[in-house]
Amino acid sequence: MRRQRAIDVLVIGGGPAGLAAAGRLARVGAGTVEVLEREGRAGGVPRHCHHRGFGRWGVTGPQYADRLVEAALGAGVAVRTGVSATGWAGALVVDTTGPHGLERITARAVVLATGARERPRAARLVPGTRPAGVYTTGELQQAVHLHHQRIGTRAVVVGAEPVSYAALAALRRAGVEVAALVTEETRPQVGRARAASARLGRRVPLLTGTTIVELLGRGRLSGVRLRHADGRPGAIACDTVVFTGDFVPEQELARRGRVPLDSGTRGPAVDGAFRTAARGVFAVGNVLHAVEPARAAAREGAAAAVAVRRHLEGADWPASAGLPVEAVAPLRWVAPNRLVPGEPPVPGARFLLRTAETLVRPVLLVTQGGRCLHRARVPRRVLANGSLHLSGAWVGLVDAAGGAVRIGLG
Ligand SMILES: Cc1cc2nc3c(=O)[nH]c(=O)nc-3n(C[C@H](O)[C@H](O)[C@H](O)COP(=O)(O)OP(=O)(O)OC[C@H]3O[C@@H](n4cnc5c(N)ncnc54)[C@H](O)[C@@H]3O)c2cc1C
Repeated sequence: MRRQRAIDVLVIGGGPAGLAAAGRLARVGAGTVEVLEREGRAGGVPRHCHHRGFGRWGVTGPQYADRLVEAALGAGVAVRTGVSATGWAGALVVDTTGPHGLERITARAVVLATGARERPRAARLVPGTRPAGVYTTGELQQAVHLHHQRIGTRAVVVGAEPVSYAALAALRRAGVEVAALVTEETRPQVGRARAASARLGRRVPLLTGTTIVELLGRGRLSGVRLRHADGRPGAIACDTVVFTGDFVPEQELARRGRVPLDSGTRGPAVDGAFRTAARGVFAVGNVLHAVEPARAAAREGAAAAVAVRRHLEGADWPASAGLPVEAVAPLRWVAPNRLVPGEPPVPGARFLLRTAETLVRPVLLVTQGGRCLHRARVPRRVLANGSLHLSGAWVGLVDAAGGAVRIGLG
């Protein structure tokens, strides 16, 4: 038997985005606000990131997570840990399972804040045996920082993104020698100083233009086979490999609720008020677009709270999904990816874009049916896979009958 309850706002996911949304909603008197977190502690990814660099003051991940949890609890949010949302029994009716059994929770608004996950080795289609010693960064960090497990002696890290360097730090903390960072890209996707400090200071070679083509070993990993960009084969002996980066939104729950997804981000499609196409269902944080800094996720959560409150107070829900907002190559995707003509993004929200190529001081161009709506120069270099932001100042110029809005380079 499922216990049945009704509340005002149900936030699914207790990471920075969900906690920030819930905290703000409780502070503005949005009624009963509850966060469900499937792990034993709330805080999301920062819980197991022991390096500094979180929030405005660059504190460690666990310190940052604790502050967010304290702020939410202090505002009157019910934070329930060890509880997973498993499915939907109606438009705003969520089934859960946790230490106290099965529940069915009906809410006036549901906020999806389920974060993102790294694609594991299987999803990356790397051939070879299935030995022990293969991790994603998240699995590695949990093993090192939360469970204090023994990892191995010599590792290869696949990727050269910020998260790959976080994996490098976790391996060193666990006493594991790092044989190399290996990336298919032609250059690291972090700033020069960070790349140089790993290569020169820590003497970890970076193999660019290189692909892992096979995992070797029975029982335990014994090495990886490589192919360099010029076709040369290679191999590295190691007992540990960490697949890093390549994040995808954790959108299973959204999919089960038939919440439409965006083909670019692969997360729920939302408009500038973080509304999905399902009435009463909002989405925030990395579930919308994979990994951004924790502060950006928390900022989205806080911004979405404004829209959730308006909805609780009876604001109209758009009758249609709105106009599509599309990214033009080399831009990969944009979020929000829908817009309601004449309605600017809620305060604190902005358009987030990801580029496939490194760009030097690019000009972003917003067009609709060939008509230029806005131009904005980004006054810096943006590395491949890096993020760009665009305000929604131009949304008032969008023609409701003009079709898709495109954001590309000028
Ligand atoms: C290795 C690594 C290093 C990073 N380093 C930094 C850094 O130095 N500085 C920085 O600012 N950012 C960093 N980030 C990014 C930052 O951690 C994330 O952007 C931030 O945590 C995103 O917040 P979120 O709330 O969207 O998602 P998450 O933090 O992923 O939280 C989502 C939560 O939802 C829960 N959940 C999912 N599905 C369900 C369900 N069905 N039921 C109940 N609960 C569910 C998950 O357990 C999780 O706790 C790093 C990320 C990684 C992976």
